Amino acid sequence: MNISDSERIHTVMKDAGFGFEARMEEADLIIMNTCSVKQKAEDKVWGHFNKIKHLRRKNKNVRVGLTGCMVRESGVAKAYASELISKDKLFQSSDMLDFVFRIEDLPRLNSYLSIVYNKEIGQDYSDELTSYFGVRPEYAQSFQVYVPVQTGCNKFCTYCIVPFTRKREVSRSMQEIIEEVKALADQGAREVTLLGQTVNSYSHPGSPEEYSKNNFAELLFHINKIPGIARIRYTSPHPMDMNSELIRAHVELEKVCNHVHLPAQSGDTEVLRRMNRKYTRERYMEVVREVKEKIPDVGITTDIIVGFCGETDEEFEQTSALFREVEFDTSFTSRYSSRKGTYSDKNLLDDVPSSVKAARWHHLNNLMIEILMEKNAKLIGKTYAILTEKVLPDGRFEGMTTNYKRVQFQSKKKDIIGKIIPVQITHSKEFVLLGKPIS
Ligand code: SF4
Repeated sequence: MNISDSERIHTVMKDAGFGFEARMEEADLIIMNTCSVKQKAEDKVWGHFNKIKHLRRKNKNVRVGLTGCMVRESGVAKAYASELISKDKLFQSSDMLDFVFRIEDLPRLNSYLSIVYNKEIGQDYSDELTSYFGVRPEYAQSFQVYVPVQTGCNKFCTYCIVPFTRKREVSRSMQEIIEEVKALADQGAREVTLLGQTVNSYSHPGSPEEYSKNNFAELLFHINKIPGIARIRYTSPHPMDMNSELIRAHVELEKVCNHVHLPAQSGDTEVLRRMNRKYTRERYMEVVREVKEKIPDVGITTDIIVGFCGETDEEFEQTSALFREVEFDTSFTSRYSSRKGTYSDKNLLDDVPSSVKAARWHHLNNLMIEILMEKNAKLIGKTYAILTEKVLPDGRFEGMTTNYKRVQFQSKKKDIIGKIIPVQITHSKEFVLLGKPIS
C-alpha cells in the first residue's frame, strides 16, 4: 500500500514541477511516507528524523513533510500560516516538520507546499477528484503494478491502529479500477496486485454478472478479461471474507494466481477472540481446507503475531500446531507491540515478557524453515512459469512463480526482465528455489 501511495505522491510532485534525487542528502524537499502498523516501522521514521536534523543544520532550505499512517490531521507548521495549522500530535511534538498530510488529502498537497514555499506551486487536484485514488500514479515498475481498490477498515482488531489512521472502509468504483488496469496493461503491465486493508471485503453497487455473493470476486472476473494482464494477485484479505465464491474465482479465472495470503494472527480461538479477529481456529481451518482442496498447487502464506496480551504457553502451542497443520509457504511473523490508542493498548495487559516473545518468534521461524526445506525439496524437477523481476548482483535473474515461490536462475538471454519464462527447478533452499530456463 505504501509503495502504491508513494507512486501517487510522485505523480503529484512531478506535475508540480519537482525533480527527483536518488539520495536524501541531495534533496531540498523530503516527504516521508510512514507506516505505523508495528513499532519497528515507526522507529524507522524516528531514525530518519535524526538524519534530517543533521541535513537541516547543513542546509537551512530543506523542507520536510510527513504522510502515511502516522499522520492523523493535515496542515502546516505555525511558522507558515495562522490557518491550516495541523493539530496532529506527532507534528506538534516535532520541530523537524514543515507540513503533514493524511494520504487521503494528497490531492491538496500543492496547497500545503504553496504555503510552505510562499508561492504558487502547481494546482490542487481536489476540485476534480473525489478521492486520492483518482491521482494516476507514476509506476516504479511498469510490468508489475499495484492498484488500490479499497482503503480503511471496519474490522477493528483490538491490536490494530489502521481503522483509526486510515478510518472506515471505502471502496473505489469498479469502473475506475478497470480503466486504470486497462491503461496499465496498454503500457506493458503483466502482473497486477490489487490492494486493500481487507481487500476481499471490497464492495460496489450494481448487479454482478458472475459472482453474486462476493463483489471482490466480481472485480477479479472483470480484470481477468483485460488483454495484456497475465497475473492477478491481491493483498491483504481477511479470512472472514474468504468465501466459496472467491475460492471459485481462483479456480475459474486463469489469471488469478494460485496463491492465497490468509492472515491467521494466532492459532488459538481464545487469543483470536481477544484480538477480535471474528473467526475461530476451526473456521480458519475450514477455509484452509477448501483453499487446498479446490486450488491446484496453491501457495498459502500468513501473518502471525506472537506474544499477544495474555498469550499462554498452551495458547502459543495452538499456533505452532496450526503451522504444522497448514504447512504455510511463508509467514510474516511479528512480536506483539502495543500501538497507542488501540483497544488492546487501553484495555489489555502487554504482559508477555520480551524474552518469551523472542523465543516464540524463533520457534515459529525454525518451524517454518523445517517445513519449507521439506516442501521445497519436493519441487526439484518441476517446471514453473517465472515472471522475471530483477538481476541479482552476481548476474543471475530472480522471479516468482504464480504460487509465490522465489526462483533464481542463470540465463544467456539478457532482455528477460518483465517476461514470463519456463524454469525447471534444480535445487531447493528454504526461502528460494534454484533452476534453469528451458526452451
Ligand atoms: Fe487491522 Fe484487523 Fe483491519 Fe487488518 S482486519 S487492517 S488487522 S483492523
